[in-house]
Amino acid sequence: METVTVRTRQSNELADVTEAVRRAVVSAGLKDGLVTVFVPHTTAAVTINENADPDVVHDILFTLEELVPRGRGGYRHSEGNSDAHVKASLVGPSVTLIVENGQLVLGTWQGVYLCEFDGPRTRRVLIKVTAA
Ligand code: ZN
Repeated sequence: METVTVRTRQSNELADVTEAVRRAVVSAGLKDGLVTVFVPHTTAAVTINENADPDVVHDILFTLEELVPRGRGGYRHSEGNSDAHVKASLVGPSVTLIVENGQLVLGTWQGVYLCEFDGPRTRRVLIKVTAA
């Protein structure tokens, strides 16, 4: 398993980790199999979405903030980051990707993102490559 450290800079941010995932596949020498990308955090997540137009990242974060506002009344969690916990569960802690002929299978416009919802922080992204 490989661990990638990502230093986020914003409270809410999508950090592109696609190249780190590709490097893990190459260094494992995997030809055919699966890659699991997992974040061991309760206020961060992983998703796959468009990496061509940065406005898509903006709009994802904008929509999540509208759905789950930071300062919403009624939260009980004393840390004050309940929105980040809810966003992390909505998006999810992992994605699985296919590797075929030594290549990560992604659509033309797809990238893998670490989703920060309570930054800035130092985050770990765990990458597990499995032959199939
Ligand atoms: Zn918390």
